[in-house]
This record gives sequence, structure tokens and C-alpha cells, in this order.
Amino acid sequence: MVLQTVDIVKNEIPVVEESVVIGKDSNAGLVLVDIINGFCTVGAGNLAPREDNRQISQMIDESEKLAREFCDNKWPVLAFLDSHHPDRLEHPYPPHCITGTDESNLVPALRWLENEPNVMIRRKDCYDGYIGSFKEDGSNVFVDWVKNNNIQVLLVVGICTDICVLDFVCSTLSAKTRGFLAPLEEVVVYSRGCATFDFPASMARNTKDVLAHPQELMHHVGLYMAKGRGAKIAREVSIGAVKNL
Ligand SMILES: [Zn+2]
Repeated sequence: MVLQTVDIVKNEIPVVEESVVIGKDSNAGLVLVDIINGFCTVGAGNLAPREDNRQISQMIDESEKLAREFCDNKWPVLAFLDSHHPDRLEHPYPPHCITGTDESNLVPALRWLENEPNVMIRRKDCYDGYIGSFKEDGSNVFVDWVKNNNIQVLLVVGICTDICVLDFVCSTLSAKTRGFLAPLEEVVVYSRGCATFDFPASMARNTKDVLAHPQELMHHVGLYMAKGRGAKIAREVSIGAVKNL
């Protein structure tokens, strides 16, 4: 059997995933990272998939299911939407998700969230949702959301596993360590609720200044890095009477 690179990496840096049950009294909050057209809808922009992508479709389906359950229970949901001013681009990526375009809006399957009373939408103009939550006056809408909703368990889904999801998780866990996020106790990244984009090395070789980004490999590395900061990685998430967190 010839091992693929991704299999070798998974052998060398395995990520143990857990089955997470969120109880009715878990005080859970759901964070959706950038599940917007510009990253998820075929042909929607410079960083959108060029064709149907299984990992991205699965991420949308799983995120929608969780969002429905959270909204049915009236539990807090926070959606980050990447949204850039046309004069302030995000190096090293090409222009994407410009404010006011449909690229920076939730995908059609999640657009209903805009009308839910338990959902907060935060447009951000950088990779990291934690940093993107700072307002001019120094307050932070994510920190306030955690505190105001008394969130103890944070469940994170979205795109990209190894970029915006990871950056947000890293900052959140550092802030938690510093005591900024009490009563937050656990950060859970749901692996099938996350996805990243595909740009194989064979394509990157012919494109100046663009990093190769093989999807399966980078998704795995993103989960590994998040776990290395102290996040739990969940292979499945359910809502039940007996929580295991
Ligand atoms: Zn961006």
C-alpha cells in the first residue's frame, strides 16, 4: 500500500477526537466562523471554491444542523462574517468578501439566522474573530457576548480550519488563560463542522507568491494546532440530557 502524504501526517501527528454531548444546562454558545459566500459558494469570488467541494458542503450541513438546535433552544449563537473595506486588503490573499457584496453574506443555507433573536452577527476585517471583535473604544463584543450569556462551553465551526477558525481559537484560549473570559471553561472545535480550501502544490508551483494549501492536510493540521492550544476536538456533537463536558 502506498501511503499518501496526508496519511503519513495523520500517523505522525494524530488528533484524538471525542464524542461531545452538550447538556441542557451546559451554558453553551455556538460560534460560526465565516460561513459566507466568498469562501463557500461555488464561483462567488477570488477565494470561493471553483467547483463543488465535499468538505465545505459537509461543513455547511453540520453547521446548519447545530445552528437549528441552538436556535430551537434559544441558546446564544455568534456568527463572524469576513467583511473588508476595498482599500484595506488582507495580505497575502487577493481581494475578497468586500463589505456590501454578497461574498460577505452568510451562505443561503444559513441566511435565516439573520432573523433569529438569539443570534449576534459580527462583521470582522481580519482573520481572527477575537481581534475583529474589538470596537474603537477598546471593548470587545465577543468577550461581552461570553459574559452576558454566561457561556461555559464554546462550540466552534466554520472555515478555514487552519486560518480563521484556528486564529480565533488560539486567541480565545490565551484570553481565557489570562482570565478575560470567565465563566468560559471549554472550547470545542467540531471537526466535521469545519473545512478549509484546496490549492494543491501542483497548482501553487506555477503561481507566484501563493502558498500551496492541500485541503485534507491543512484541515488536519488546523485541528492539531487547535488541540495543541487546549481545545477539545469533537468528531460528533449531540445535545442530550447527560452532558459529558
Ligand atoms: Zn478576509
